[in-house]
Amino acid sequence: MSWFSRLEGQLKVEDVLLSSVAEKYGTPCYVYSRSGCETGYNEYKKALEWCPGGGRVCYAVKANSNLSILSLLADLGSGFEIVSVGELERVLAAGGEGQKVVFCGVCKEEHEIRRALEVEIFCFNVESEKELELIQKVAESMKKVAPISLRVNPDIDPRTHPYISTGLKENKFGIESKKAVLVYQKAAALPNVKIIGIACHIGSQILTMEPLLEAFDCIMGLVQELKDLGITINHIDIGGGLGVQYSNDENPPSPSEYLSRIKSKLLEKSRDIPDIIVQPGRSIVAEAGVLLTRVNFIKETSNKSFAVIDASMTDLLRPSLYGAYHKIEPVDYDENKTEIECDVVGPVCESGDFIGKKRRLRIIDGDLIVVYGAGAYGHCMSSNYNSRNRPAEVLVDGNKMKLVRRRETIRDQLQLELTEFNSQ
Ligand SMILES: *Cc1c(COP(=O)(O)O)cnc(C)c1O
Repeated sequence: MSWFSRLEGQLKVEDVLLSSVAEKYGTPCYVYSRSGCETGYNEYKKALEWCPGGGRVCYAVKANSNLSILSLLADLGSGFEIVSVGELERVLAAGGEGQKVVFCGVCKEEHEIRRALEVEIFCFNVESEKELELIQKVAESMKKVAPISLRVNPDIDPRTHPYISTGLKENKFGIESKKAVLVYQKAAALPNVKIIGIACHIGSQILTMEPLLEAFDCIMGLVQELKDLGITINHIDIGGGLGVQYSNDENPPSPSEYLSRIKSKLLEKSRDIPDIIVQPGRSIVAEAGVLLTRVNFIKETSNKSFAVIDASMTDLLRPSLYGAYHKIEPVDYDENKTEIECDVVGPVCESGDFIGKKRRLRIIDGDLIVVYGAGAYGHCMSSNYNSRNRPAEVLVDGNKMKLVRRRETIRDQLQLELTEFNSQ
C-alpha cells in the first residue's frame, strides 16, 4: 500500500508522520488515507468499464460509515449499499445521491421503506416474501412503485469465518434459490413493485474466487429461467465480500481478476448482457486505515509478556469477535530496542480483549504502535463498553490531516442518561 511508507524508520501516511497525528489528536485514533480509499474505489470502477451500462459500484456503508469517507466516495461518483435507514441518512448527509442507493438487509421496517421510497432509491434487495408484501403495501400507500431485486441465497460455502458467511442455507439471509422463481412470479403480479434485477452476497473476507463464481453461475441460471418466463432482469448485483490481505499468507484475488472472470462468464452465455452491480465494503477501505495506539506499559508475568495499550476491543472488535489477525508494527522503528514476544491487549475487563497474540515487537513503555487493515469494520463496530470513549478519526490527504470525528467525551456518554434522570 503505497500510502504508507517509512522515512528514516518513522511511519508516514501519505506525507504525514503518524507521530504527529498522535501528538495533535491523541490516541487511540483511527487514521485513514484519502488516496487509499480512492484507489480502492477506482480499482472497482475500472474493472467494470466493460459493462454495457457502465457497471455500478455501491460501496457497502457498514464497512466504514464516517461522513467524510462517504463524502469522498460520493465525489468519485460512488453509489451506496445500505442496511438501515440510519445508513441512508448518513449517505444523504454526506452528499450522496439517494438515487444511487441499494437497500439490503434481512428486515427493512415500514418507516425505513417509506423513507427509501421518499428519496427514490435505486433498488430494494428483497430478502423474503413477507418483506416483498410489506414493500408492496408501503409503496401502494404512497402511490409509488418500488424497484426491486430478490436477494438469492445460493447455498454456497464462501470458506470464510462462520460469522461472516451469508450464503448458506442455514444462514438467515436471502431467498432460497429453489424458491426464487416462484417469488419472482409473485412479485411480477404486484402492482406497486417493479422487478429490475437479481442479487446475491455470500459472505465477507472471501479469499478464493471459486465460491463467488459458483454463486454467479447459480444466478445466471436463474436469469435464464426468468427470461423464459418473460421476466426481464436488467442488472445482476453480485454483492461484495472480496477479501483483503490482513496477513502475509492471505492472497485475495484483485477486483480486476475477479471481474474479468465474471465478464467472460457473461459473454459466454448471452448477448444482451445485464449490467453488473458490486457492493464492496472491506476491499475498498480496509487497507486505507490504521488504528494508532500507545503502549501504556509492558507487563511481564512469569508466563508471558503483555503490551497493555490504550486501545481495546471497544475500539477494534475484530480480533475478539472473529479471532481476526491484524498486522502490528511500532510507529517508529528502532533496531536498538530489544525485540520482545508479547500479547497486545487492552485495559477492558475481558480476557477476550486482545488486538494481537504472540507478536514479536521492538517496543518499550510509551511507544506508539499501529494496527494495519483497520479502515473497515473498525470504528463503526466500536462501543462504549467499560464506559470507554470511542476514538477519534483522522483523514490524511497529502500533507494535510483533518479530524473527521472528534474523540468522544464522558459528557457525550452521560448526556443521554442525564436528561432522563433530570426530568424525573
Ligand atoms: C456487508 C455487505 C456487503 C459488503 O461486504 P464486504 O465484505 O465488506 O465487501 C455487501 N453486500 C451486503 C448485502 C452486505 O451485507
